[in-house]
Parts: sequence; structure tokens; C-alpha cells
Amino acid sequence: MQSFYYCSDHLYCEETSIAKVAEKVGTPLYIYSRRALEEQYRAFDAAFSGVDHLVCYAVKANSNLALLNLFAGMGSGFDVVSGGELYRALRAGATGQRLIYAGVGKTAAEIDYALQANILFFSVESEAELEVIAARARALKRIARISLRVNPNVDARTHPYISTGLQKHKFGINLPHALKLYHRARSIKGVRIVGVSCHIGSQITSIEPFVAAVSKIRRLVERLKSEGIPLRYLDLGGGLGITYRDETPPALGEYAAALISGARGLDCTLVFEPGRVIVGNAGILVTQILYSKTNTSKKFIIVDAGMNDLIRPSLYGSFHEIWPIQRRTGPKITADVVGPVCESADFLAKDRRLQKPLAGDLLSVMSSGAYGFALASNYNSRPRPPEVLVDGRTIQIIRTRETYADLIRGEQLMTEA
Ligand SMILES: *Cc1c(COP(=O)(O)O)cnc(C)c1O
Repeated sequence: MQSFYYCSDHLYCEETSIAKVAEKVGTPLYIYSRRALEEQYRAFDAAFSGVDHLVCYAVKANSNLALLNLFAGMGSGFDVVSGGELYRALRAGATGQRLIYAGVGKTAAEIDYALQANILFFSVESEAELEVIAARARALKRIARISLRVNPNVDARTHPYISTGLQKHKFGINLPHALKLYHRARSIKGVRIVGVSCHIGSQITSIEPFVAAVSKIRRLVERLKSEGIPLRYLDLGGGLGITYRDETPPALGEYAAALISGARGLDCTLVFEPGRVIVGNAGILVTQILYSKTNTSKKFIIVDAGMNDLIRPSLYGSFHEIWPIQRRTGPKITADVVGPVCESADFLAKDRRLQKPLAGDLLSVMSSGAYGFALASNYNSRPRPPEVLVDGRTIQIIRTRETYADLIRGEQLMTEA
């Protein structure tokens, strides 16, 4: 979070005062640091510079067109999980040969779209999907490059909602079944086997689950090779965690060294799908304090951002640091920071020690670059906030604040019979 720092007790993003941006654009709003985004992408890519690899940024973490365009400009590929994400990636300047497509529920229309875009490969998540992809490819007279997403049955030791690599999860194909499916894929027309994929979860903060997954998949790759099914790509997914509070995720160098060594000798191009680790700490959500109140003994700070803007605390019980935009010395209080939405789950922080608030004070919800705006909704008919990209001293609004008119776009009054 070095791109967000205090200067004379005022919070800055790069060389730009957050208070000034808020004054200009209003609150709530998301702010991203271009420098932080670029540095983190480059650091990830550089960690694997010693081996043949492709970084495919996971679009779902933050799908703003300007960010995708920034990454495309640095040579990034993209991991998409829907037709809509594919559309965004293409609109942002991605080329098909750097696009991969995962997800358990791809529709025929989405598959057609991806085939027409000539994507690098589909990560196939079931036998039934394999058959549909093959049929669509034959119908369009194309060849679908495929990778089977296997489920290595590894416990990512993260929040259960963002853990994906256990047999009980809906994702991927269980390892014991994978071999059979590769044989099937080899025998049907319309598909070409090019790789194997796995993604075991998100916000993973230790190296062991990654190492366990790659070692299990390694055996599958070797077996396939011995059967005359060599794989060109070994896609190890995303999932590397970040520091929200006091987590100590593996450093990029340690992560890269472990995976490179786990894949040594397989003669595959390594593919990665990082999302959170690239954008998470490059963004903040800025919100204004509306009111403070005390119900019996409990204090609440009511702000103008809610669970519709940032749902992670409500959905996962996630911790986000909350920093004042203007730091003051003086008394502190312990309070819940809550939004205006009519749900008790609408909170950004619980029992947080904060400087005593004054009405109109601004707060920054830190580490909000990933799964922040991407999960924002219009619940309670609240327009989604704008997104601003800071570049040194300049700012650019990369998504305008939604209007009330946006809220009803596409809706129609009933016509009388
Ligand atoms: C969500 C997801 C990712 C990105 O996960 P992060 O934890 O944000 O790195 C990568 N690959 C797939 C298939 C995903 O579903």
C-alpha cells in the first residue's frame, strides 16, 4: 500500500490528495493507483521471467475497461469466466491468443463467442461441457483448444466461500476422473487438447496448498505424456493472497520459485490467473461520514458507502483497514462502521478503533481494489460509485457515477391490455 500514504496528516494516492479527488468527484468513490497496478503486474510477471509463461489477469477481480487496457498494454493475457468478461477483454484490446475461459456454466452462445474470438483455450469443467464445446466447434467449423480444469482435492485453507479445490466443490474435474476425460477428448472431433488447469481458491496465504496442487497435477501431466498426450500449457490458476491486516502471504519470489520447481522438466508453458494479488492493494473506497450514533452502549459511524458498494465484509466477514483521510490527534472511539443499506449485514467494519469522527469526515476503506467494484450492486436502488485512476498528479474518471436514470434503464411500465 505504498502508493497510499500520509503527507502532513492528509492521505495521498501517488502525488494526489484523496480529499481533493473526493471534493471533485464526490463520495463514495473508488480510487486506483496506476503506479501500484503497474508495479504489481510487472513484479508478478518478472517473478516468472526465467521460464516460459503467460500471465492471464483474472478479469473478475476488477473488470474496469481502463484497467484491462492497462494490463493488455503490458502484455497481459486474460482469464475470463463469462461472455461479458470476454466482451470486456476484447473491448480493452486483448487478443484471442491471450485469452482463456474458465467457469462451470458456459452456455452454447458464450462458447460460440469464444470460438469466434479464437481464444487460446477453454478450461473445461465437466464431461457434459466438453461434449457441447466439441459440438459447437464442429458446427462453426473450428477447433476448440481445451485444457481440463482438474480438481486436485487440496485444501486452500481460506474462507470456505472462496475455496474451490476440494472434491466437494462444484469446480473442475476430480483428478481420478481426469485421465478418462482426456481419453474421451482425444477421441472426439472439434477439440484439441492443449493443457491442464487448476485453481484451488482465493486469498491463499501459505505456499503449501500451491505446492500440493502442482505436485498432484505433475503426476497427471507425466502420465498423459507417457500415453502420447503431451500438454503444451500447465495453468496453475490464481489465488495468491494479499495483506489486508496481518496476513503474511508468500512473497512473489517464493511463490514463483515453488511453482517453477514443482513444474520443472514438464516442458510446459506455465499459465497464471492472478486477480487479487495484482489489484487488491492498488485500490481504496473513499466514503464520507454522515452521522454518528449510540444505541445503548454500542457506537455506530454511519457512512455513505454500503454493502452495495463493497460487499466483502458482509459476504465473507472480511477485514479492511479503515484510515481517515485527514489524521488528527485526540480522542478515539470504538465503533461499527456501517452503511445506509437496510440490512444488518451492511457494515464495513466492526468494533473498530478509530479517531473520534466529525460529521463530514472522509474515510478510506483500504485494499478495496479486488472484488470491490466488481461485486457492487444497485441494491436499495443506490447508484454504483465512480472509479478514478490516479496517475501521479493527474486523475481520470474511468467510470462515471451512475445516475437515477441508470437505475431504471431497460425497465418499462406495464402496458394495459
Ligand atoms: C477467481 C479466479 C481467479 C483469480 O483468483 P484470485 O484469488 O483473485 O487470484 C483465477 N482463476 C479462476 C478460474 C478464478 O475463478
